[in-house]
Amino acid sequence: MSDKGTLYVVSAPSGAGKTSLVKALLERDSRVLVSVSHTTRDMRPGEVDGKDYNFVDMDHFNQMIGEGAFLEHADVFTNKYGTSQVWVEEQLAQGMDVILEIDWQGAQQVRRLMPECLSVFILPPSQEELRRRLTGRGTDSQDVIDHRMSQAVSEMSHYGEYDYMIINDDFDTALNELVAVFLSRRLGQNRQSQKHQELLQGLLSA
Ligand code: 5GP
Repeated sequence: MSDKGTLYVVSAPSGAGKTSLVKALLERDSRVLVSVSHTTRDMRPGEVDGKDYNFVDMDHFNQMIGEGAFLEHADVFTNKYGTSQVWVEEQLAQGMDVILEIDWQGAQQVRRLMPECLSVFILPPSQEELRRRLTGRGTDSQDVIDHRMSQAVSEMSHYGEYDYMIINDDFDTALNELVAVFLSRRLGQNRQSQKHQELLQGLLSA
């Protein structure tokens, strides 16, 4: 019997390694999918439309808002981002677990609509390390890096709203911790007793 999947919300400041961790988790676990958001921001080099994001213009995005197509949507920095409601609900109904990689504003909306979701916040090990990661190849000016740092601090101030917190210092340790979050939900009483009804009947028969 396939029961409903679990919705996970994963947030982090940029530079915390959220996307790499989620990607590594997907490679390990075939029952998990990640939602591809819609965004009005420009495509970055190396990004693929339909894979990293569904890149749409402002009119298209606003039309989708009007149609009620988004489970949540938010303005992040100067761009708009949103999660397709139909896609998420279809996957959950089929028993797949779904990850939303979204910011704290989207996380608040999803928690209100689907309080059974689990949310995870990923943090860097220190401000110095975050600054180092945001500095990247050293091509950006100090102002740009300072701006990214202040955006990261503002995102991080919401860590307390999440069910779980993972510090991404050592990547493998952080990945194991993320895997453990998924595992713990699957081993919960409700899920396990539904999944193993026959076994339980057998074990408890006189
Ligand atoms: P980026 O443009 O760098 O890929 O993402 C910028 C921020 O937007 C990140 O914090 C990311 O989690 C967030 N984001 C991406 N997709 C969505 C979405 O569908 N909804 C919301 N609320 N935030 C999103």
